[in-house]
Amino acid sequence: MQFRDLKAQYAAMKDSIDAGISEVINDCNFISGRQVAQLEEKLAEYTGVKHCIACANGTDALLLALMAWEIGPGDAVFVPDFTFFSSGEVVSNVGAYPVFVDVDEDTFNISPECLEQMIVKTLEEGKAAPKVIVTVDLFGLPADYARIKEIAEKYHLKILEDAAQGFGGRIKTRMACSFGHISTTSFFPAKPLGCYGDGGAVFTDDDRLAELIASLRIHGKGKSKYDNIRIGMNSRLDTLQAAVLLAKFDAFRRTELDAVNEAAAYYTAKLKDTVAVPVVPDGFYSSWAQYTIRLINREKRDGLKNFLKEHDVPSMVYYVKPMHRQEAFFSGQYSDGDYKVTNALCESVLSLPMHPYLTREAQNKTVACIKEYLDQ
Ligand SMILES: *Cc1c(COP(=O)(O)O)cnc(C)c1O
Repeated sequence: MQFRDLKAQYAAMKDSIDAGISEVINDCNFISGRQVAQLEEKLAEYTGVKHCIACANGTDALLLALMAWEIGPGDAVFVPDFTFFSSGEVVSNVGAYPVFVDVDEDTFNISPECLEQMIVKTLEEGKAAPKVIVTVDLFGLPADYARIKEIAEKYHLKILEDAAQGFGGRIKTRMACSFGHISTTSFFPAKPLGCYGDGGAVFTDDDRLAELIASLRIHGKGKSKYDNIRIGMNSRLDTLQAAVLLAKFDAFRRTELDAVNEAAAYYTAKLKDTVAVPVVPDGFYSSWAQYTIRLINREKRDGLKNFLKEHDVPSMVYYVKPMHRQEAFFSGQYSDGDYKVTNALCESVLSLPMHPYLTREAQNKTVACIKEYLDQ
């Protein structure tokens, strides 16, 4: 069994992907080919955001946003404690101070209460000035934007939506990648919409920021590539990746999002009386980057993971370590007591096989193994 079956996906759309790749190779327009602009246009339309700027990966997308806002030393950026490393790494990359925030026990997304507490604490300490909230749409589920927006307005902070895992999710009719002043995503192969290598994108309604980010991604270019008006970076999306994404995006919106939501509903129906299953609040729609259950403690979680492995069922622990305990950020400034929920989640979560080509047989086998292990 595959955790995320990229081979099944390729088999389902081989003709269109191969045709897209061949076209780029025939044209030899490997960098900044027309497919990149086509993709940007389609994704902007889909998310309902005015500008989409494709770039080299989801980490650069976050970094480009912070660079465009000129976030740097002396600035505090709030980041959920339960996320992938990049969400906090980019804050340190620009010399700012990451303030980690505990998450909600049900949705695993940044807790609005803890966020406000950390903002107040940061203001009282006075060492760094609050500037940005990085919200992460973890495992495909959008964060609680209604409440985060109120807090952002109250303290005059910007929202940077990290939708690396959230592309395709929505709240009512509003799409992920439209909730931040700047929003970003990743096209890493295992993300909801993945390419065949690294890729990412930045979204914003702001014309000035869009122009700035487009310049920053190509060496701070001015009117031409050899007219450099600011210090930027090299962070373009390859034309080959744009061609793969154009082919995949069709299936993503037509069938794949429905398929993962049906698979998630099936797991939930079968598992809800056995383990803690994911919570999707009313009006929210997830793109199911992960389907993550909770066990009662580390012993049960690790035991189940091994039991599944013995039965050829792959599972993953996202995430084994809270951000505030990552050695890279260590300087003793975080107090472990501020992160009770994240600490508990890292001990108890387990992500199950989840992708649009998951069969009911595979799901039945996974469910049967979980029940067998927990009945022992
Ligand atoms: C994957 C991921 C990123 C980084 O994306 P890359 O394309 O791998 O650089 C950032 N944030 C989150 C939450 C992610 O899951």
